Amino acid sequence: MAQGSETESRKLLSRLQAVMADAAAGQERLDRITHLIADSMGTEVCSIYLLRDGDTLELCATQGLAQEAVHVTRMRLGEGLVGRVAKRAQPLNTANAPAERGFRYMPETGEERFSSFLGVPIQRLGERLGVLVVQSKDAREFSDDEIYALEVVAMVIAEMTELGAFVGEGQAMRARHQQQVMLRGGCAQEGAAMGHVWLHEPRVLVTKPVADDPEAELTRLREAVDLLRADIDQMLDRAPTWETEQREVIEAYRMFAQSRGWMRRMEEDIALGLSAEAAVEKEQSIARARMETVPDAYLRDRLHDLDDLSNRLLRRLTGQGRDTGADLPDDPILVARNIGPAELLDYGRRLRGVVLEEGSVGSHAAIVARALAIPLVINATRITTEALNGDPILVDADQGIVHLRPEDTVASAFRDKMAMQAAAQERYASIRDKPARATCGTIVSLQMNAGLMADLPSLPSSGADGVGLFRTELQFLTRNKVPRRGELAALYARVMDAAGEKKVVFRTLDIGSDKVLPYMKRQDEPNPALGWRAIRVGLDKPGVMRMQLQALIRAAAGRPLSVMFPFIAQLEEFTRARDHLLREIDREAALGRALPDRLEIGAMLETPSLAFAPRRFFELADFISIGGNDLKQFFFAADRENERVRRRYDTLNVSFLSFIEQIVGRCAETGTPLSFCGEDAGRPVEAVCFAAMGLRSLSMRPASIGPVKSLLRRVNLDEVKTVIQTARNDGEQSVRGPVMDWLRANG
Ligand code: PEP
Ligand code: MG
Repeated sequence: MAQGSETESRKLLSRLQAVMADAAAGQERLDRITHLIADSMGTEVCSIYLLRDGDTLELCATQGLAQEAVHVTRMRLGEGLVGRVAKRAQPLNTANAPAERGFRYMPETGEERFSSFLGVPIQRLGERLGVLVVQSKDAREFSDDEIYALEVVAMVIAEMTELGAFVGEGQAMRARHQQQVMLRGGCAQEGAAMGHVWLHEPRVLVTKPVADDPEAELTRLREAVDLLRADIDQMLDRAPTWETEQREVIEAYRMFAQSRGWMRRMEEDIALGLSAEAAVEKEQSIARARMETVPDAYLRDRLHDLDDLSNRLLRRLTGQGRDTGADLPDDPILVARNIGPAELLDYGRRLRGVVLEEGSVGSHAAIVARALAIPLVINATRITTEALNGDPILVDADQGIVHLRPEDTVASAFRDKMAMQAAAQERYASIRDKPARATCGTIVSLQMNAGLMADLPSLPSSGADGVGLFRTELQFLTRNKVPRRGELAALYARVMDAAGEKKVVFRTLDIGSDKVLPYMKRQDEPNPALGWRAIRVGLDKPGVMRMQLQALIRAAAGRPLSVMFPFIAQLEEFTRARDHLLREIDREAALGRALPDRLEIGAMLETPSLAFAPRRFFELADFISIGGNDLKQFFFAADRENERVRRRYDTLNVSFLSFIEQIVGRCAETGTPLSFCGEDAGRPVEAVCFAAMGLRSLSMRPASIGPVKSLLRRVNLDEVKTVIQTARNDGEQSVRGPVMDWLRANG
């Protein structure tokens, strides 16, 4: 870049800064800034458009266009040239604006006199804030240097906006982070919570975007980058040589940190007058804007790397760390772009709720949130840019809705809803020690699902008869290497101790598909849910499964032990898995160790094929548990993690209910105990229908036991069965409508 333009740019930025200091009102600042820019760029027009809401831009200040148009001219994202710049988050440079595709003539501005147009986005970390435009009469294209210089100015304006420099009258100049915002996302763990925002990664505020001494800033940047590179080298040194996957990730990360292009762009930004931190943030903003549009997953991952590197650099340069000195509020609702399972576990049950900008239903964070029974909303777009630490926030995870800084009426309606739920919980507490006996006399055993030692204390308070499903993945997911046998044995023993007389059914490691261990080589499979997962991995590479079985046997020592194998699709898989367990028992016996005093070996029925297995399977299995989450996804061929299809088919669809009934029938022939442990077991109406179909044991989240028991105790299952039967005969697709009508009619 030419020396002259660098000096010119620095001069402009320092004049912008002076405006900030002199002018007190937001409007006056914007007016003077447009004037300065037009003057410095030698254009007749300079205008600033700011976003009024998610998708309307408003002309907020102009030098050169008609003043009457200010706060009057508006356009939607994508509309006209200005709208296009905002939508695409990319500069637009043309010598003949009226001939440009999408040009929209705004008569009130008098802009027909101007031919050339250069617009650049005003954006901050992937958030659109507005558009900065220069126009002139002569038909010329702006040079690359001019575009670059205008982007630098736009960056400074973005920082000033974030710092509240342009607050004035009207929606477009409202103070940021003060109004109520409602965001919609998806539900990954049900529940409702109210509290205050705790940002997992507090945002770094660049308070000094402009610097007068480029040499000093360059030195600061280079020193920070050197330290960053040294950190990454250390990470690589620490990664074990056999962890090739992990090393590859760090290598890619290091390559980025070494990128000459990245460094060069930041150095140019500094030469134009930005401070080191503003230069880092400018490139980070551009990368974030690209992240939204890049379809290629690999490239997106690399842009994520760059984002992460930029955050580290920013923290180093500004001295603002993760530890801001703020205290975790009493009622924290964690807000983050995404979070790893170990980090979430560190917060543990202190959190009232979690709201993520990204995430997926099957992510590790979701598994942990489910285990901790913390309401979790995912895909809440913009939450990390909108929320500030300490903001009041309401989370309605059932609906996937988040209210940030709610107005009083919203907050009080929400409080009423929570109070109703709390009252219901009290009602449930009063029946805690009573059986789930329907009015017809049938008793259904209600069990709880668990996955952490921390779940066990809720066993007595939930009123569960035992643990119907102990998911053992979490101990594997939250570490960076396979846990040791001794460690696992100690943990399983503590789980059994805590359960006392009550039975715990341990499910062996269920990994693959959505649950990928950080230290396991990721399999590139076209359909992971139908791929190499659960017992398939266990049988092909039995090392880890055998170690886990040994740990379970040692933990039981003299006590009863129940083990179930996940994802059994045919008899032979069950016999092989069972043989492994029996062999381990023999080995332990040969070593003279105490054996379990009773052993039950069961299978999870998660694929339709198993329902049609030979009779021998039902005879051999000591018990069977329907994994409804997986069974339903395979029955309807609808991916449980795909938002577009996962709720498409009703669990109370007659086909599915009839299938469940058939499984009940097969188990009855051989007297094999059967239970159901998918999420649906915890939904009261579903639970009642399952019971009507003959299921006598249901395992669910502890918090669901009260509502399920309460409904079960009020219905006659024979009558529910008749309602289902009638609906089936009438050719209904789902029995939900008829059953709900009947429940309402019967109080
Ligand atoms: C299921 O599939 O229903 C189940 C209980 O297992 P998971 O949700 O862990 O796959
Ligand atoms: Mg499953």
